[in-house]
Amino acid sequence: MTRGNHQTAWVLAVLICAAAFGLGTGANGALAVPISASKTWSSEDGRWTPPPGFQFIEGWKTTSKGATYKPCQTVFWHFLRDGEPADRSTMIDDISDSLSRMEEWTGLTFTETADPKEANLTFSWTDSDVLIDASVAGIGGRVSGLYYGFVGFSKNNSWTSDAYAGYGTVTITGQSGIEPFQFPGRQALIIHEVMHAMGFEHVDEPSSIMNPEFDSPHPGIPNAADLQGMRTVYLDNECPSPVPTAQAVFDAEGKAFVQARNLKRGTKVTSMNLGPNRRFKGTLSAPVPDGRRAQIVVTAEDDKGKWVDTTYQSRKVKNGAVRFAVPVTLYDYIYVRDHKGRFLARFTTDDNRRP
Ligand SMILES: [Zn+2]
Repeated sequence: MTRGNHQTAWVLAVLICAAAFGLGTGANGALAVPISASKTWSSEDGRWTPPPGFQFIEGWKTTSKGATYKPCQTVFWHFLRDGEPADRSTMIDDISDSLSRMEEWTGLTFTETADPKEANLTFSWTDSDVLIDASVAGIGGRVSGLYYGFVGFSKNNSWTSDAYAGYGTVTITGQSGIEPFQFPGRQALIIHEVMHAMGFEHVDEPSSIMNPEFDSPHPGIPNAADLQGMRTVYLDNECPSPVPTAQAVFDAEGKAFVQARNLKRGTKVTSMNLGPNRRFKGTLSAPVPDGRRAQIVVTAEDDKGKWVDTTYQSRKVKNGAVRFAVPVTLYDYIYVRDHKGRFLARFTTDDNRRP
């Protein structure tokens, strides 16, 4: 089992008369992506992925990995406002407004969180290499294989400044020596980058909000194909049934929880608890004859990145119930097998970026 740390990122370029933009020189700094997010969800269960042979012919497209988030998911978002230029202080209002619109289009729930560690979607001001080009206003993507997306905004591209606040087309005035002109409001940029974070790719169709180059004639709103894409990948999908989840606990490492990831047909979680000192107790009702022994194995990644069994237990089954208690750390897998070694259940432990 491997866990990828690959990031997929796209860049939004703005093509416009350069004179209309204050062309600054970006500082050469690190991309503001919380790398710690690379260790979280390992399961892709429940996300939309392109079915085999799926043809993207509608002017919208996802990566081969499909959706970043599950249908109906609550996506916690946080805006890291460090280094925010004074002339961009209302960006957060446009983010909030854009995400409200996107709730209607996707069926996702976007909820702001004050805790950056809790966020499934992080916005930041960034000096990343790709934004050094002053024509590039933003970047968006996701940590591949995970329920985690990010968006970075240029600090010096004019499109991210408050002069461009709004949805649809806005009138830009007050730029010295330049007549008032029409341009897509910066919510078009936010929606474009959030769609990258949700798994969408660029398309060539000029009217698409996923076209990589924006110019004055663009209406600044998604076209019919963009909306269809968001329906197909998110809104039209059934909400997954709730996954049994053990109660979160707090300790020196933060919040954690355990979730049932796979269950054999006929096997049910009847109780789960994650207690202090990360002791995980579970009870399954499972088709194992009374008196036989079920096996519980905890698998964790060692220092060298190898997956090793750290705990093994066998538990006698009584009244069709398998009860067990095992110590767990973050990012473990807990497998329960029947008396013949056949799979019954798999659990994962994770931190707080819950889907
Ligand atoms: Zn883009």
